[in-house]
Amino acid sequence: AKVLKRGRATLFSEDLSAAARERIRMLTDLRVAFSAERLFLAYQPQVDLISGKVLGAEALLRWQTDDGRSIPPDKFIPLAEQSGLTVPIGEWVLRTACRHLKRLTDLGHVTFRMAINVSHTQFREPGFVPALGRAVHDCQVDPGQLELELTESVAIGHIDSTTAKIQEIRRMGISVAMDDFGTGYSSLSVLKQLNVDRLKVDRSFVKEIGEDGDATGIAELVIALGHQLHLVTIAEGVEQEEQRRQLLKMGCQEGQGYLFGRPMPAKEFEAWLAAQR
Ligand code: C2E
Ligand code: CA
Ligand code: CA
Ligand code: CA
Repeated sequence: AKVLKRGRATLFSEDLSAAARERIRMLTDLRVAFSAERLFLAYQPQVDLISGKVLGAEALLRWQTDDGRSIPPDKFIPLAEQSGLTVPIGEWVLRTACRHLKRLTDLGHVTFRMAINVSHTQFREPGFVPALGRAVHDCQVDPGQLELELTESVAIGHIDSTTAKIQEIRRMGISVAMDDFGTGYSSLSVLKQLNVDRLKVDRSFVKEIGEDGDATGIAELVIALGHQLHLVTIAEGVEQEEQRRQLLKMGCQEGQGYLFGRPMPAKEFEAWLAAQR
């Protein structure tokens, strides 16, 4: 038994160090990618569910590796979180999205809304609101065309300071959306207190519409909750016409998903947008 135990312990620590090595390698790669400008943003349209009119886009981070692969953000954002890269990358995302927004506005898309994801680490940083103000000022964008997407995790353990910060941001004219609502731990009262503008219905709930009774129920509940709190609801991950139809019936106003458009690099998105008019 002793031998077995030791054997296991060795195996375990070897696994650990392999994982640790992989993490360190990826982290080094990420630092290089960031400094070599191998990160870019893709823009995915957000539309009015009734008319199909494009209302704006969500900026989604991409990492293009040297060998042409594209690493999804879920894989490297947690890594950035642990390494102090969150804040510089987050600021880069903010400024890049603002510059693109300015360009689209100059092209005549004057009511276009740009939604930007902000991680809880970035949001909690004392310098976040000032950095936001500088980005708006330097890029000369209308704050009314900017939206921040926050997840429930920003509020955990910091409900009062989060509420205050959200109100400060909204006073700047920038809107705030609650992302991935219902997938974490926050309660209904937290959502009420945070006082955001928009509620995003998570893809996991949209995915089951038409297939699974329970998940349809959750999407419906989230939309009803949005109405109750006077929030606009936007469903993400809409892939099928049937989902659009059901969501409309549930009273959801806006949508985002492959049915309307995939995330596209800046140039491609610009051309796509021009073709919609
Ligand atoms: P999210 O904020 O929930 O973003 C929506 C995700 O759903 C995106 O994945 C998008 O590409 C995907 N999606 C949209 N429509 C469809 C659809 O119809 N079908 C399917 N199957 N998927 C769809 P993506 O781009 O891989 O991003 C994953 C997550 O990474 C995001 O989830 C967000 O939490 C995070 N993220 C992305 N960009 C940033 C960023 O700039 N900063 C931070 N902090 N997080 C980011
Ligand atoms: Ca988002
Ligand atoms: Ca989301
Ligand atoms: Ca989601």
